[in-house]
Amino acid sequence: MRNPRAIVVGAGVSGLTTAVCLAEAGWSVRVLARDTPMATSSASAGAMWGPYLVSDPRVEPWSLESLHVLEELAADPSTGVAMVTGVEASRSPITPPGWTAKVRDFARCAPGDLPDGFVSGWRSTIPVIDMTAYLGFLCRRLERAEVDIEEYAVRSFDDPALDAPVIVNCSAIGARDLVPDERLVPIQGQLVVVDNPGIHEFFADHDDDPTLMAYILPQGDRVVLGGSADRGRSDLRVDPDVGAGILARCIAIDPRLAGARVLGHRVGLRPNRDRIRLDAAPLGSRRLIHNYGHGGSGVSLSWGCAREVLALADADTLP
Ligand SMILES: Cc1cc2nc3c(=O)[nH]c(=O)nc-3n(C[C@H](O)[C@H](O)[C@H](O)COP(=O)(O)OP(=O)(O)OC[C@H]3O[C@@H](n4cnc5c(N)ncnc54)[C@H](O)[C@@H]3O)c2cc1C
Repeated sequence: MRNPRAIVVGAGVSGLTTAVCLAEAGWSVRVLARDTPMATSSASAGAMWGPYLVSDPRVEPWSLESLHVLEELAADPSTGVAMVTGVEASRSPITPPGWTAKVRDFARCAPGDLPDGFVSGWRSTIPVIDMTAYLGFLCRRLERAEVDIEEYAVRSFDDPALDAPVIVNCSAIGARDLVPDERLVPIQGQLVVVDNPGIHEFFADHDDDPTLMAYILPQGDRVVLGGSADRGRSDLRVDPDVGAGILARCIAIDPRLAGARVLGHRVGLRPNRDRIRLDAAPLGSRRLIHNYGHGGSGVSLSWGCAREVLALADADTLP
C-alpha cells in the first residue's frame, strides 16, 4: 500500500516538527521552504519553554504536550534540549500563570531572593533549547525518515509544486502574502550571544513593557541574552542600540555578565496573530492544513500543534 503523501511548506520549528510527526506516522513527506532551517526565525529564538506573546485558548494544552516531549528529549544532550532551573520574575506583582502548576520544581520566590527591582516571581525547572542544535536534531530525524527539505519559494497554493493530497502551511510570517492573512503581524526580536562567565540558572522577566525585557539563558559555554519585541517591524537588521540595552539590563540582573565576550547578535520575527491558525480546509480535491501564527511561543507549542496537524491529516485522508 502506498503511503499517503503530504507537502509541508516551511522549515522552521513548526514545519520540521510537523514533518517529523507526519513522517513517523507513515506519511510520505516533502518539505518545501524558501529559507533553510538555520536561516529561519526559529534559528534566532532563545529559546525557553513557556507561552509568551501568543493569545489563543488552545495554548495551554498544546504547550503542555510540547513540554512533555521536550522533557523527554532533554535526556539526550545531542538534541540541544536541557532541563534548566531558574527564576521568572516581574517588577510589579503578578500571579503565576496556570501552566506553572505543571512545571517541575515550582516554588514562589521570596522578594529577597529576586534581583534588585523585582517584586514577585517563581523558581522552576523548564526546557531551555539551543536552537542551532535542536533544528539540527529535527533535520537528522527527518533524514532518517527519508524526508527531503527542498529550497523552494511557494508563490501560491495553486503552485504546481504542491503536488500532494495534503498541504500543510507552516510558513509563519510568510503566510501574510501566501494565504494572504493581514491578521499576522511581525514582532521583531533581537538577542545577544556571549561567552558564559559561569551561569547555570536561567532568568526571565515577565513585565509587559518590551523596553524592560531581560532574559538570560545559559547554553553550555554560551549564554543567550534577550530581548526585544518591536511590533510591526519586519527587517532583520541588527540594531546596536538594542543590543547595548539588552546587555545593560542583563548585567544589572547578573553582574557576572559584565565584560563577557560578545559572540554575536541574532534577529528574528515572531509571527503574531490574534489567534493561532490551525485548521483544515478543502483546496480543490486536496486538503490545506494551516499551522502558523505562534507568536513568541512557536518552540513551546511545536509538538502539540504538530500532533494536531497529524490528527487533522489522518482524519481527512486515511481510510
Ligand atoms: C528573538 C526571538 C526569541 C524567541 N524566543 C522564543 C522562546 O524562548 N520560546 C519560544 O517558544 N519561542 C520563541 N520565539 C518564537 C519562535 O521563534 C517562533 O514562534 C517560531 O520560530 C515560529 O516558527 P515557524 O516554524 O512557524 O516559523 P519560522 O521559523 O519563521 O519558519 C517559517 C518557514 O516558512 C518558510 N516560508 C515562508 N514563506 C514561504 C513561502 N512562500 N514558500 C516557502 N517557504 C516559505 C520560511 O522560509 C521558513 O522556512 C522567539 C522568537 C524570536 C524572534
